[in-house]
Amino acid sequence: AKQQGRSGYAFFSSDMREQAESRMRLLKDLRIAQQEHQFCLYYQPIISLKTQKIEKAEALIRWQHPEKGLIRPDEFIPLAEETQLIHKMGEFIFTSACDTLRKVKDSGKHMQLSINVSPVQFTSKHCYLSKWHKQLQTLNLNAQDIVIEITEGLMMNAQPRTQKRLTTLTAQGFALALDDFGTGYSSLAYLKQMDTDYIKIDKRFVDGIADNQDDLALCEAMIMMAHQLGLQVIAEGIETYEQHELLLQAGCDFGQGYYYAKPMPQEALLTLLTDN
Ligand code: C2E
Ligand code: CA
Ligand code: CA
Ligand code: CA
Repeated sequence: AKQQGRSGYAFFSSDMREQAESRMRLLKDLRIAQQEHQFCLYYQPIISLKTQKIEKAEALIRWQHPEKGLIRPDEFIPLAEETQLIHKMGEFIFTSACDTLRKVKDSGKHMQLSINVSPVQFTSKHCYLSKWHKQLQTLNLNAQDIVIEITEGLMMNAQPRTQKRLTTLTAQGFALALDDFGTGYSSLAYLKQMDTDYIKIDKRFVDGIADNQDDLALCEAMIMMAHQLGLQVIAEGIETYEQHELLLQAGCDFGQGYYYAKPMPQEALLTLLTDN
């Protein structure tokens, strides 16, 4: 038994070593990626369910790895958060989003653009978030054209600093969306307190609405509640016509998902907007 225990331990530790090594490799690659500008933003249209026109888009980060190809954010955002690389990345995201908004305006169109802001970004010592408003003014853009998407968990354990920074942003006119709504510990009190403009119903609720009465009932309840509080609703992950129809009938305002369009590079979005 002792023998077994020993080999078991040896196996476990080599497994952990492998994990640590792959993490180190990813971190090294991530640092290089930042220096060599391997990140870019993709944009997924958000449409008005009533008119089916594009009114907004969400910026989603992509990593163009020289060997591995396009890497999705779930694979590197957590590490970027742990290692504070997220701050530089967050500035890049904001600057790129501004560039896109400027191009949209120059083409004579109007669109609101969502960016995802990590909770870690609110905790930095140097508050770069406070420079965003100035940065927009320099480009002759409005804070109202940017929607800050935060996950609903953010406020639950928020330090006073986080709360204050968020309040500053909304006071400057930035719009606010609560992402992945319904999945965490949302409190209705926070919704009001935070000057929220949108809730985003998570894909896992949308997935089931065509076959599951409970999922449909949940979506309907969230939409009704949001409207009663004066908020608008964006449903995520719409993949079928049935889901689109059911959400439209439930009074949902906006939709986002493969049924309308997948995330795409900047030029593709600009082209799509031309004949919107
Ligand atoms: P999220 O904010 O909930 O973004 C929505 C995700 O759902 C995106 O995945 C999008 O491509 C995907 N999606 C949209 N419609 C559909 C659909 O119809 N079907 C399916 N199967 N998926 C759909 P993505 O781009 O891989 O992003 C994953 C997560 O990574 C995001 O979830 C967000 O939490 C995070 N993320 C993405 N970009 C950024 C960023 O710039 N900054 C930060 N901090 N996080 C980001
Ligand atoms: Ca989001
Ligand atoms: Ca507002
Ligand atoms: Ca989401």
